[in-house]
Amino acid sequence: MTAKLIDGKAIAQEVRDGVAAGVAMRVAAGKSKPTLATVLVGNRPDSSAYVASKGKACQELGMGSISEHLPANATQEQVESLVKRLNADSTVSGILVQLPLPSHLNEERVLQLVSIEKDVDGLSPINIGRLAQKGREPLFVPCTPNGCIYLLDKMGIQIEGANAVVLGRSNIVGMPASLLLVSRNATVTICHSCTKNLPDIVRQADILIAAIGKTEMVRGDWIKPDAAVIDVGMNSKPDSTKKSGHRLVGDVNFEEAKEVAGFITPVPGGVGPMTIAMLMKNTLRAAEIQD
Ligand code: NAP
Repeated sequence: MTAKLIDGKAIAQEVRDGVAAGVAMRVAAGKSKPTLATVLVGNRPDSSAYVASKGKACQELGMGSISEHLPANATQEQVESLVKRLNADSTVSGILVQLPLPSHLNEERVLQLVSIEKDVDGLSPINIGRLAQKGREPLFVPCTPNGCIYLLDKMGIQIEGANAVVLGRSNIVGMPASLLLVSRNATVTICHSCTKNLPDIVRQADILIAAIGKTEMVRGDWIKPDAAVIDVGMNSKPDSTKKSGHRLVGDVNFEEAKEVAGFITPVPGGVGPMTIAMLMKNTLRAAEIQD
């Protein structure tokens, strides 16, 4: 193996320890306890699991958590009035609307209702708009892309001037990751399902962020020697040696890529733990902004 492993679990733990210390200092100073409110609509098992793990993280770090759950057939009005109530609730520091919402709901209208000061997911149009504009500062940056950049910085990987390739242009990962890289003076190529000659483009990347949700699609011979590879993908792959019959793998073929890359994140244990750590950091920041 040539690549240095980027230990997202350990780096996320450091972030969480810092947040826990910040929370303890606030509480000792008599200030409000940072509190995250999650909004779950429906019963998707993956969304329920994500919301539960966010609540658990809040508890572990000494923060408060409020878990709001609406049925899958909730109306637009019900979801919107819940968000408005949480906006007005001074005990709530941050609001996270778990995506995707059921398809009958207008996600854009819900997200634009979240108060910018409580938008700990960084997905309100004002925060994303600021991220896209030169010289403007979002109050919050979306957690998964922010975690990717944090890992690059932590490993001392130079972003300025690097050729960065981002696979995927979703609102929650690919596009904000690309905007963050541009804001850090990387030269960025954004790839998507209509991109031609993907392997050739990836071969130019000093930094590769893969967020497409395609099991191990990026092969070792696509990777530029010594590149930094950040694999956001979380895909289930059949594996008869596991009790569950499957295991979690990324968008990059790890076994091949680790022989070529300079740095690589494992799946699991890479980007995944960073997402929640960044959410906790944003929730503490939200409480501080609202002091
Ligand atoms: P998404 O909304 O489905 O977006 C996928 C993106 O990949 C789209 O932009 C799509 O292009 C592009 N794409 C799909 N097939 C492609 C192909 N063959 N070649 C090039 N581009 C292709 O997914 P997402 O929400 O961004 O998530 C991406 C992956 O990250 C998933 O595996 C997800 O589970 C994982 N994820 C992990 C975390 C974490 O905390 N670790 C957080 C969020 C997501 P078009 O735009 O043209 O459709």
